[in-house]
Amino acid sequence: MSQYWSPAVRELTPYVPGEQPREQVIKLNTNENPYPPAPGVSEALRNYATDHLRLYPDPTSYALRATLAESYGVSVAETFVGNGSDEVLAFAFQAFFRHDAPLDVPSITYSFYPVYANLYGITLRKHPLNDQWEVDIDSLANASERSGVIFANPNAPTGHAHSLETIEALLKRVTDRVVLVDEAYVDFGAESAVALIGRYPNLLVTGTFSKSRSLAGLRLGYAIGSPELIDGLQRVKDSFNSYPVDSLASLVGIEALKDKEHFKACRNNVITTRERTRLRLEQLGFEVLPSKANFVLAQHPSFEGAQLFAGLRERGILVRHFNTDVLNNFLRITIGTDDEMDSLIEALESLI
Ligand SMILES: *Cc1c(COP(=O)(O)O)cnc(C)c1O
Repeated sequence: MSQYWSPAVRELTPYVPGEQPREQVIKLNTNENPYPPAPGVSEALRNYATDHLRLYPDPTSYALRATLAESYGVSVAETFVGNGSDEVLAFAFQAFFRHDAPLDVPSITYSFYPVYANLYGITLRKHPLNDQWEVDIDSLANASERSGVIFANPNAPTGHAHSLETIEALLKRVTDRVVLVDEAYVDFGAESAVALIGRYPNLLVTGTFSKSRSLAGLRLGYAIGSPELIDGLQRVKDSFNSYPVDSLASLVGIEALKDKEHFKACRNNVITTRERTRLRLEQLGFEVLPSKANFVLAQHPSFEGAQLFAGLRERGILVRHFNTDVLNNFLRITIGTDDEMDSLIEALESLI
């Protein structure tokens, strides 16, 4: 607390990201991709004329958005890019969810949503997951007088994904406010709701280059939605920072989008390793929730989450442990390379 802080800042509860360790560890705690970005990225960086840095970047990020639009089969007017999807989400909260009515959200989901809600004075109405640890779509759709609906699909940190059909059923019922589907993990095996954009003007899909395109350090995220929603996001962006995406990030993002082979190969590797890891964890007695993401959420009937987390840490392996009542016993484990997962299993074998 400082006397210099505004009342609003005193009230904030900031997001706490997973640790970025300084020493060498096997890092399975923040859902980064274990494989390098597309080879074209290094080449683009090598060829980049430093003189470009004198100039401000294109405030509309047109070239990047055009490539994004082409990749997703939408028009440029249906795309938006920002400094990580976290920023895109912050803009979306500001643009669409600041009404008096509460925002409908699953009780367990990406923990940044409550932080934005708090920042913007938005009330949340939390919907418990069903007994399968799935987002309860029916409950979300049933609520009334809302400022909007937001959930991640696949959800974090459970990894469960709903089908496109289920998401469309929700959109048929919620037409008055924005439905935001956060697809940070969609590339690891789930169906994207981008296919529904043309039919539902209140649907906004967000995504990131951080996970499936191995560019967490670059900070690049996007939204796809009807032109009126994109205009709403642009109004917020241009009232905050006209240039959230720098010229290097644009260039790198374009290269990453263009290399579909590399993208697919990395994604398939992660999926294969995920299923292999799941089996091995189950052999050790873990309950592993089925995942369509690049992580698994697992708990052991005889060992506490905190205890396993600490044991792994001592052995140089970092996973994520959430200190909340419901998730306290779980570990969220990012899928790394096969070698990294072998080390994880070995370490767990010594702990159990
Ligand atoms: C990682 C993550 C994000 C943020 O991604 P960035 O683009 O790196 O900001 C957003 N939503 C969910 C659910 C995530 O897991």
